[in-house]
Amino acid sequence: MSEIPKPVLRFAPSPTGMLHIGGARTALFNWLYARHTGGKFLLRIEDTDRSRSTPEAVAAILGGMTWMGLNWDGDVIYQFARAARHREVAEKLLAEGKAYRCYATADELTAMREEQKAAGKPMRYDGRWRDRVPGPGQDGQPFVVRLRAAQEGETIVHDRVLGDVRFENSQLDDMVLLRSDGTPTYMLAVVVDDADMGITHVIRGADHLNNAARQLQLIAAMDAAVPVYGHLPLINGPDGAKLSKRHGALAVEAYRDMGYLPETMRNYLLRLGWSHGDDEIISTAQAIAWFNLEAIGKSAARMDYKKLDNLNGHYIRETADDVLVEMLIDFSSHDDELRHFFLSAPKVKGRLLGAMASLKERAKTLKELAQGAEFLFTDGPRPLDAAADKLLTADARAVLARTLPALEVTDWSGPALEAAARAFADANGLKLGQVAQPLRAGLTGKTQSPPLFEMLALLGREESLTRLRAYAA
Ligand code: GLU
Repeated sequence: MSEIPKPVLRFAPSPTGMLHIGGARTALFNWLYARHTGGKFLLRIEDTDRSRSTPEAVAAILGGMTWMGLNWDGDVIYQFARAARHREVAEKLLAEGKAYRCYATADELTAMREEQKAAGKPMRYDGRWRDRVPGPGQDGQPFVVRLRAAQEGETIVHDRVLGDVRFENSQLDDMVLLRSDGTPTYMLAVVVDDADMGITHVIRGADHLNNAARQLQLIAAMDAAVPVYGHLPLINGPDGAKLSKRHGALAVEAYRDMGYLPETMRNYLLRLGWSHGDDEIISTAQAIAWFNLEAIGKSAARMDYKKLDNLNGHYIRETADDVLVEMLIDFSSHDDELRHFFLSAPKVKGRLLGAMASLKERAKTLKELAQGAEFLFTDGPRPLDAAADKLLTADARAVLARTLPALEVTDWSGPALEAAARAFADANGLKLGQVAQPLRAGLTGKTQSPPLFEMLALLGREESLTRLRAYAA
């Protein structure tokens, strides 16, 4: 009995910019399908366009994939390094008569297109060198190599997402495989690489659907195996218009810097175009177990930033406190606004760990978590935010001044401090809030914080009293 071969998938980004969230979703779907089936997930950097490819973009893509946890199998394949192989295939097709040399000059082609335009015809290469034998006039003249594509009948892309998509061959002209300087075109490189890498499934953005028809013609000429295609509908903004910067961040990196967790991004991007009943929270392990091509949606997905925030809040709460502390320290030390607040990491660590269970209940991002925890990052009196400043009226400061002696004599633990504050409030005909609010504002510089008496205990007697005395009058 022969074993069914395992799927081989790939993500094939062009390194011309950041890893876009659309690209990240494509990578995720390929990765999930490979992990679901026990197949392979390969990464090919399509750097054939030398003028647009940059090393920074390659680094951003690899960094973004790594951060997202989308590990690839084997080494990264760089397309440009395979140019000789691409040329070899074009030359073989030429030798077999499946491709031909086209000596049409740029001027000639411009004139051809202008005539077509004037006549109201679609502009495409008219096959003028398809059956023409080069004569002495062409000796030493530059030429491109074109595919001798079928002109009749149709090419059908059997797409696992979109269904059968038909193209009239008469609409597809003979595409260029090698440019006049001998460099391979992108279309040639993609098909040769997919064939050589043994790619069985091509899952990519729907913007490549038209390319698929041409690529199928080339695959046929090469006698290569036809992969399974799945073209993913685009991602739109919340208003249904094409996703753009004005909707929100586009680069995966930006989401990392705002404090979204990789697990959130995997869950969120999965739901942008794939569904499993009504499930919204889908862990990566579940996603691997459940992922299939059948449940990919046919229509464009819409970004929903509120949903993204809610998911992130969920995954933050799910993360163990000690893990979150490490994540937060790492996050804050990279954040321009936060890093200068930091005391020595060990001291902050202890404080963060003590407050994390409460802090994490409120935060939607690591950034918010860090902002909520900022009062733990510093020593000495806290600057007051606007609300805390408003709360600390002369009366409130006077209450604070009278409260402190009651606290000073107390055992410095959460329950004992709370009992002392209550006793003081009762003895003076005050509500607990009238005593606790000024304490909170003085201690944290804010009107909201994790449980006050726990925070007093966490910061310790000396540090707490230093902060509170600054506002006691
Ligand atoms: N390099 C192409 C892109 O970044 C993808 C090509 C493909 O997946 O076939 O859009």
